[in-house]
Amino acid sequence: MSELLDLSTAQAAQSVRAGDLSPAELLSAYREQAEADELGAFLWLPEEPLGVMGTAADAPLAGVPLAVKDIFCVEGVPTTAASRILEGYRPPYTATAVERLAAAGAPMLGKTNMDEFAMGSSNENSAYEPVRNPWSPDRVPGGSSGGSAAAVAGGLAPWSIGTDTGGSIRQPASLCGLVGLKPTYGAVSRYGMIAFASSLDQCGPITRDVTDAALLLRHLVAGGRDPCDSTSVDFPQEIELPSSEDLGGLRVGVVPELSDAATIDAGVKTVFDATLERIEELGGGVEQISLPHSEHGLSAYYVLAPAEASANLSRYDGVRFGLRSGDGDLLSLYERTRADGFGDEVKRRIMLGTYALSSGYYEAYYGRAQRVRTKIAEDFRAAFERVDLVVTPTSPSVAFRLGERTADPMAMYMSDYCTVPMSLAGLPAISIPAGLSEGLPVGFQITGPAFSENRLLAAAHALEQAIGFDSSPARGKAGAPAR
Ligand code: GLN
Repeated sequence: MSELLDLSTAQAAQSVRAGDLSPAELLSAYREQAEADELGAFLWLPEEPLGVMGTAADAPLAGVPLAVKDIFCVEGVPTTAASRILEGYRPPYTATAVERLAAAGAPMLGKTNMDEFAMGSSNENSAYEPVRNPWSPDRVPGGSSGGSAAAVAGGLAPWSIGTDTGGSIRQPASLCGLVGLKPTYGAVSRYGMIAFASSLDQCGPITRDVTDAALLLRHLVAGGRDPCDSTSVDFPQEIELPSSEDLGGLRVGVVPELSDAATIDAGVKTVFDATLERIEELGGGVEQISLPHSEHGLSAYYVLAPAEASANLSRYDGVRFGLRSGDGDLLSLYERTRADGFGDEVKRRIMLGTYALSSGYYEAYYGRAQRVRTKIAEDFRAAFERVDLVVTPTSPSVAFRLGERTADPMAMYMSDYCTVPMSLAGLPAISIPAGLSEGLPVGFQITGPAFSENRLLAAAHALEQAIGFDSSPARGKAGAPAR
């Protein structure tokens, strides 16, 4: 059994195809792991294994089961976005992302824990329980897709999907020693993904290696534009499985504004600098570029995302979904339901967002933040005239202790410093593990122009081969190359 769990997903799929392993055996092995979850990674597991659909051995994803963030609607299955307000809600339909992966042969293993409505960077905002980092159980796994990341890093799931609005795929991937890819905005359908900030939300994979990320992305985009999501688009190419081993001729830009020693922990910076050297060893050219407005990304994001959230979350009123509190008049039903159903961070965002959108302040906050967003996108456009890819640390620090930042929202928001600019610009970005600091994983973020996912994956693959990071916490801690 443990041998089975040691297989990479590519090896597991290979064994299934060769007839040495059945999809049902694979699913039950992981299910057993998930049932014994001590990390708080899963919010829900099916009573009976789901996913008759697409588990055939000849399906492209060969029955390798998928952990799904609890923000994705799945027909008839409890879907809460880790909020009390959605308690008891069972959607009448399934998110396109989940449906496409199941159809390609990756049945859903279970629903993973997250920050309530994807608001957070530590997974401590879940209304149910916090998630623990498999590398060190007294530390956070990152957020908001912390359950998906912890499940994969802890060996409870072979691979997973999450969502990223300002960093929620990349940051937990970074803190858990995994690969996390946020695709170009619009590349993956948002249909059936509970909305946080609609102009930023994207679904993407959290996996043990770059090849797995490419494989999941391939099947997420393969069906083309989804008529159910008006912001989804056809991906212009097929997603290739990366094979490159070098970075010959690639021009890579380093952004001083996002890798400055004042904001990035020393141990993270050391791994970052070592990775730049590695890029040069692999034949890439490293040069300094500037994204002059990126340092305002965080301020703009924390106006825009709450503004959109305040509108999106107005639908939870006790009438249509989940929780209903109060039995008096309609207004008190709304008030009681929302007071009981939403957690503190969600309430904070609704208040911030409503204020930023209120007449008299709209121009000063929302309008100005939109202009900053445009400037950041222009900065990237100018940068990509000079370089092929832009690199930064993913997170300013390694995984922090549970409780360490909960009392200080500003410190928590700083976790997103390096990931938010790409979200505002709608660009694809991948985080790969690049080494250890204090015995904990450090992520390296690579960003490219819109729809350059194949280029990103190729570069990430070459670097991954050279770095040789071991994504298993047990083995990694015992002597992973902190090269
Ligand atoms: N941590 C950021 C926030 O709290 C990003 C979350 C996300 O990407 N969903 O908004």
